[in-house]
Amino acid sequence: MSDSRLHFLGTGDSEAMRFWNTNLMLESGSRRLLIDCGYTIKYALRDAGLAVPDIDAILITHTHADHAYGLERFGIETRYRYGTRVTLYAEPDVLPALWHETLKGSMGYSSDGENRLEDFFDVVAIENHSLEFADHHLRTFPTEHTGGMATYGVEIDDSVIFTADSKPLAWIAEDRSRRTILHDCSLQADNPVHATLGEIIAFYPPEVRRRMLAIHYGDDLETHRAAIERELGGVAEQGASLVL
Ligand SMILES: [Zn+2]
Ligand SMILES: [Zn+2]
Repeated sequence: MSDSRLHFLGTGDSEAMRFWNTNLMLESGSRRLLIDCGYTIKYALRDAGLAVPDIDAILITHTHADHAYGLERFGIETRYRYGTRVTLYAEPDVLPALWHETLKGSMGYSSDGENRLEDFFDVVAIENHSLEFADHHLRTFPTEHTGGMATYGVEIDDSVIFTADSKPLAWIAEDRSRRTILHDCSLQADNPVHATLGEIIAFYPPEVRRRMLAIHYGDDLETHRAAIERELGGVAEQGASLVL
């Protein structure tokens, strides 16, 4: 029996008040990797009985606030309150924007003077879309999200595909593995940068949708729950987890 789990710390979209930001946590033994770290991360960790010093590493899929703004707290608190260091993984084309366009305005200067991202984190640029954490293999893939922004999803071992933020993806429609698919699922009628529930139903065949759990949804989840549970494998419930 594996002692590894993928926890759904938060499952909401960026407007949600009933759900925290869609941020996951891979837990393997005593080691913990966050997959995304949005501005609600401290509340989500508190709900899981955890706090900043319990996290060993963070992987950032893209620089939107609900996926990356929690790094400000991690950087400041690990450096100045806990005296610890977190490993920060991101694709090479995400890292420059992560510092220069996202975090530097808040973290660029401190009591130590001018800072770099490396003053707060052990920064690792992901090579060949591939990284190892504990006994797990993670692979990143580009998504179709906001034009001009580098955005990625994550595959974990042979068990999970997490789209992070994306419109439907053709290769997932053709995937015939047994993997669980955590799919961005906007409950709005139209959305230019997220897959809507209607698009998911129209785009993916039933055998793929059966393995799909909706995530990154809005506060009106209950209005759409019956449709999600009829057309997809179900809802990725906040606070729940998958055994890896
Ligand atoms: Zn996004
Ligand atoms: Zn998002």
